[in-house]
Amino acid sequence: MDGTAMRNKFFNPVYLLISLIGIACGANFYTIQQDRQLGDDIDREIKAAPKEYPPYNNEQVRSYVQNIVNTIVRSPEVKYKGTFAYKVTMINDDRTVNAFATPGGYIYVYTGLLRFCENEAMLAGVLAHEIAHAEERHGTEHMTRDNIASTGLSIALGSNPSEVAKIAASSANLLASLANSREDELEADTKGFTYLRSTSWWPGGIKLFFQKMLDQQKRGTAFFEAWLSTHPAPEDRVANMEKLMKENQTPAPTEDNLMTSNYRSMLRSMR
Ligand SMILES: [Zn+2]
Repeated sequence: MDGTAMRNKFFNPVYLLISLIGIACGANFYTIQQDRQLGDDIDREIKAAPKEYPPYNNEQVRSYVQNIVNTIVRSPEVKYKGTFAYKVTMINDDRTVNAFATPGGYIYVYTGLLRFCENEAMLAGVLAHEIAHAEERHGTEHMTRDNIASTGLSIALGSNPSEVAKIAASSANLLASLANSREDELEADTKGFTYLRSTSWWPGGIKLFFQKMLDQQKRGTAFFEAWLSTHPAPEDRVANMEKLMKENQTPAPTEDNLMTSNYRSMLRSMR
């Protein structure tokens, strides 16, 4: 679609109304192929920026994490297996307790997250959450919203509206568009839980992650300040998980489904 077609389309008040309803309902104007393309582009950007994303070259650890992702992706609830990459890249940064996913399923895991987690179920909980962001296409959903908003704004201001393609092509916007809303975060926690129910891990692992985060916060570790400013309150996420587990009558975790000893041997290989 060229700029003119786009402009005419957006000048149509009926279309604009449909778009606004679409925003409220989580519309996505991108194709699955575009999600994949964006993922490829962002992955290339990240690989080309080793200062911001220092690579962690430990294939044993990477494939340990990749195997967990592969297992989660086999869940019948995961639609885009075989379509999205679902490829793990490790980032060497012990002070960052985080992971993120691009559209199209590239997953980046900081060494700080591995050191923070205490068992496989906890890590699997976070990974399932990241897979859910890719599956639910939260990245391109946001870009749809941002594009409609900026196009609407430029119509109001009488300037030339941007083309979707032009915005998508600017790599600076790509990573910024990955910031997820509070609703997206809770949805990803819920979806992640459903994926994990078909695996042998305890499906509530992400709750343990937030509980540990809350513990550390109470003890005054400033570690999570940046994280907490951009994410919903961990208390809300713990409550959401507890509600889900109650509805699904999820039993308490056991050593068999937390897999702590497996996890500890992986951590030993990180030293
Ligand atoms: Zn998230």
